[in-house]
Amino acid sequence: MSENSLDTKIEFLKGIGPQRAEVLNKELGIFTFGDLLMYFPFRYVDKTQFYSIKDAKQAEFNVQIKGILGRLTTTGAGRKKRLTATFRDQSGLIELVWFKGITWVNKKLQPGAEYVIYGKPTRFNGKLNIVHPEIEPVTLANAEESASLEPVYPTGGKLEAKGLDSKGFMKSIRILLNKLKTVTIPENLPEYFLERLNIPSRKRALYDIHFPKNSTDLKRAINRLKFEELFFLQFRLLQIRNNRKHTLKGQTFAEIGPLFNQFFNEKLPFELTGAQKRVLKEIRKDVAQGKHMNRLLQGDVGSGKTIVALMTMLIALDNDFQAVLMAPTEILAQQHYQSLTEMVSGLGIQIGFLSGSVKGKKRKATLALLEEGELHIMIGTHALIEDWVKFKNLGIAIIDEQHRFGVAQRAKLWKKGSNGVPPHVLVMTATPIPRTLAMTLYGDLDVSVIDELPPGRKPVQTLHKTENNRMRVFGFMREQIKLGHQVYVVYPLIEESEYEQLEDLNNLMAGHEAISKEFPMPDYQISIVHGRMKPADKDFEMQRFVKGETQIMVATTVIEVGVNVPNASIMVIENTERFGLSQLHQLRGRVGRGADQSYCILMSSFKLTKEGRTRIETMCQTNNGFEIADADMKLRGPGNIDGTQQSGLLQFKIAELAKDGKILQTAREIASRILDDDPNLEKPIHKNLKTYMQIQGNRFRGWSMIS
Ligand code: ADP
Ligand code: MG
Repeated sequence: MSENSLDTKIEFLKGIGPQRAEVLNKELGIFTFGDLLMYFPFRYVDKTQFYSIKDAKQAEFNVQIKGILGRLTTTGAGRKKRLTATFRDQSGLIELVWFKGITWVNKKLQPGAEYVIYGKPTRFNGKLNIVHPEIEPVTLANAEESASLEPVYPTGGKLEAKGLDSKGFMKSIRILLNKLKTVTIPENLPEYFLERLNIPSRKRALYDIHFPKNSTDLKRAINRLKFEELFFLQFRLLQIRNNRKHTLKGQTFAEIGPLFNQFFNEKLPFELTGAQKRVLKEIRKDVAQGKHMNRLLQGDVGSGKTIVALMTMLIALDNDFQAVLMAPTEILAQQHYQSLTEMVSGLGIQIGFLSGSVKGKKRKATLALLEEGELHIMIGTHALIEDWVKFKNLGIAIIDEQHRFGVAQRAKLWKKGSNGVPPHVLVMTATPIPRTLAMTLYGDLDVSVIDELPPGRKPVQTLHKTENNRMRVFGFMREQIKLGHQVYVVYPLIEESEYEQLEDLNNLMAGHEAISKEFPMPDYQISIVHGRMKPADKDFEMQRFVKGETQIMVATTVIEVGVNVPNASIMVIENTERFGLSQLHQLRGRVGRGADQSYCILMSSFKLTKEGRTRIETMCQTNNGFEIADADMKLRGPGNIDGTQQSGLLQFKIAELAKDGKILQTAREIASRILDDDPNLEKPIHKNLKTYMQIQGNRFRGWSMIS
């Protein structure tokens, strides 16, 4: 057999045949010997030793015991019906209990015969028992302690119907591995890795992942395969990044000209933080070189990304290019439009605005001006990526709060450059994503981080309150308003169905009414904003709040992203348990933007799920967006972080981003070092790598366009 034999169709494996092959194809995407080999167990049963019943009493895990089955007794009826049996060895006695499948168990088991059982002992009513043990008659196969941990494979109804339950997989994989004994499963990592990283060979690891002799071997196999998976992904991402940097042409912004300088000297409303200066330098260096910039700008909420975006756009303008800034919501786009227009007033810069709500003549006129180059900066929502939006000479596209934009949407922007040269792309994200996730999702982007907040900010104090504290919360709001501050009160909004939306809307309205009673006119003015309002009305209400004409803003999560009202110092979140962590962090980021102490009050019902409680506790414990992002990933898994769902990059066979940060870090570092040292893998020591990358090439086709 050669490596090609791993490409042999799975139906030709002994015991599989066309019918099983079909269900393997359909259910699991297993087509070849190689695919089956890469189908890993999700847990193992420890059959390396038998426990005596006496010792099993202390066990906090599953144990294997050999003994004699006693009489089977059925008690109770209906839902309380259960079957019990005693099970004894020389050291003692344990009770076995079944609540389900009683008839079947009764039929199958022979009192007085010798069995091997497997399960976790628990103590119930002072008696030691095992509920629903695995039980098998003693046979030659299991009479002795077996040499290995037994693999348990994930399976399902359709597979099981064809005999592919866990045991079925075990059998087939054993046959396959025996077949492969005589061939070399080629190593795909450079040999020197094995020694340096102290990891087993690929062949060894693939045996041990299925049939480990002991837990040490198993751990080593798992680590090796995780490393391998993460290494090849990182290697490929870094290759794409290098190719872009070295070969993809970008617009050249050679000049830092009059607009940038005039803005810097005359208009800049504050001193830039060190982090903002550093990031601007990184960007300037990129765009001056005629190479394409594809950069991710990470910075926690309130760290001042907008000014960096503006100054970057000014560089484009200084070099006679247009710039576009896209935001995920109408409100945020509007706000950018207003604040940037104000900031650059007097510089002779024309800024246009486009969103779904700009229609008819106005839209036509805007589009025409844009195409003629009369507009220098364009601000808007995703309406801007539509095909009929044409620029005269777009030099840079900036995407704010990136996580709301899909991968495909980003790719569309590339086509809007002039003369076939794509615009530079700066992606700004305020929802910090865990480092491991960033390395994977944006592994081909260059990353800049604003890791410093503007001076004078006081960390927001976060408190958890339940309904019986409501009056005190109102009292606190009143105090703060007296001091001249403003308050947000935010309600959840799920947009899954019309019905739920209506229900949420009703909650919001009821809340609004209660607050209106508690804070009556004319002493208090209240704004309300929700998704069912017309954009013009939303904007009107928003503006009243921004100008300080209203003291309280009752809203749904439409205000979640980016809204900037530095005088607002209290954020009250209703039904906190219904929000995700990153959403809560975003919401909290709306306060703490001025110099005064701000507060975030998390209202929830008294009863909480464990996860809901963990989320609230996390919010109360830390203001650090990265810690929150990590906690979020641990709670929900990487696939559920906002905006990542559509990405196939997170479908790992064995690696787990939430746990394998260290391995990932190592993998990326090593990949990067190799690419620096031997970018085309010409050195003999990298021959394995080169061969494997070529075989795998197809898997990665088309990736270069995704960022
Ligand atoms: P985000 O990174 O969340 O988009 P913004 O760009 O909205 O943050 O900035 C938040 C607030 O901080 C704004 O009011 C902005 O004017 C202010 N700001 C930004 N940079 C500085 C700075 N260097 N010094 C003082 N205030 C700043
Ligand atoms: Mg922002």
